[in-house]
Amino acid sequence: MTQSTPSKLAMVPFVSVDNMMEIINNIGLEELLVELASFIESDFKRWEQFDKTPRVAAHSEEGVIELMPTSDGEVYGFKYVNGHPKNQQEGFQTVTAFGVLADVSNGYPLLFSEMTILTALRTAATSALVAKYLASKNANTMALIGNGAQCEFQAIAFKAICGIDTVKLYDIDSGATEKAISNLANQGIRAIACKSSEEAIAGAQIITTCTADKQYATILSDNMVGSGVHINAIGGDCPGKTELHRDILMRSDIFVEFPPQTRIEGEIQQLDNNHQVTEIWQVMTGATQGRRNNNQITLFDSVGFAIEDFSALRYIHDQLGRTGNYIELDMIADPDDTRDLFGMVLRAQG
Ligand code: NAD
Repeated sequence: MTQSTPSKLAMVPFVSVDNMMEIINNIGLEELLVELASFIESDFKRWEQFDKTPRVAAHSEEGVIELMPTSDGEVYGFKYVNGHPKNQQEGFQTVTAFGVLADVSNGYPLLFSEMTILTALRTAATSALVAKYLASKNANTMALIGNGAQCEFQAIAFKAICGIDTVKLYDIDSGATEKAISNLANQGIRAIACKSSEEAIAGAQIITTCTADKQYATILSDNMVGSGVHINAIGGDCPGKTELHRDILMRSDIFVEFPPQTRIEGEIQQLDNNHQVTEIWQVMTGATQGRRNNNQITLFDSVGFAIEDFSALRYIHDQLGRTGNYIELDMIADPDDTRDLFGMVLRAQG
């Protein structure tokens, strides 16, 4: 073997943006979201096996760059992700991401993947999975406020996982709503454009807020939220960036991913640190009750946690053989003699 033809050990499967789109189209979006949700659910049910830490965030005036690591002792994963609300006006994505999965026993990477699309998939799968536990069982209509990059993934996941047949869309930018209506035209879900949040919410048993604004925004005020509703609040995910009026939080039973992270980043940053919240993994294991009655307002204060990304990477890694949609990257230096790294460089001179 010459050093210019790397060994199998040196090669790491890489799922590019093109590959991710092929994977979605090969498996089918709804089937993929259902399968991905089951990976997330099974990892949430073994929550205690994971190393957990709030994500490591580098804040700036414009946005945030974050690293999100976790491990179950056998496999390690992390995601690099940004959140820059003003990007969208400048022709950049608000959220972009990539991630790595590695073997804990030797530290070698198992997978390198784009995660901009995968984040939208895992966020939608998590939202719908949580709603399966918390929303009213006869929910068929969801309001979707904020019709940007996450919007259609949310709509399809709620259709596939919760049986939602109607989405009512509102965005301050009517162009975003038109885009979503057009994208959802042939997806087997009724999509209705609305002129205000109030109009979108009317008759909806589930409200998803997925707006991007780096401020304490009030996408929903207290008088807009009736009893029995489930709120899936995904846009407030950073210090100083929330979507719901504090009074709504005071009337809701609040469910979170990992409290130490959500208290920094979620809607509950507006509340006292000792305000009662329920960890959603405990509802999934049956240790705690989710929805107790038809009048209760349930709120999933979603910020996105590392275990969801771990599950998503684990799912994509499992699909490599099924779809073949990946390329191999020469990522790991692999000298013939492991100690002769320098000699490998010398021999590459020719
Ligand atoms: P995006 O920029 O593509 O879309 C955001 C949309 O919100 C835009 O169309 C904008 O016009 C609209 N908007 C802003 N203010 C509004 C208001 N007051 N009322 C109605 N619409 C309003 O962003 P995206 O990628 O769709 O992400 C949406 C949000 O979700 C971001 O804040 C992002 O950080 C967050 N997010 C959270 C998670 C999670 O796991 N919780 C995951 C991904 C993204």
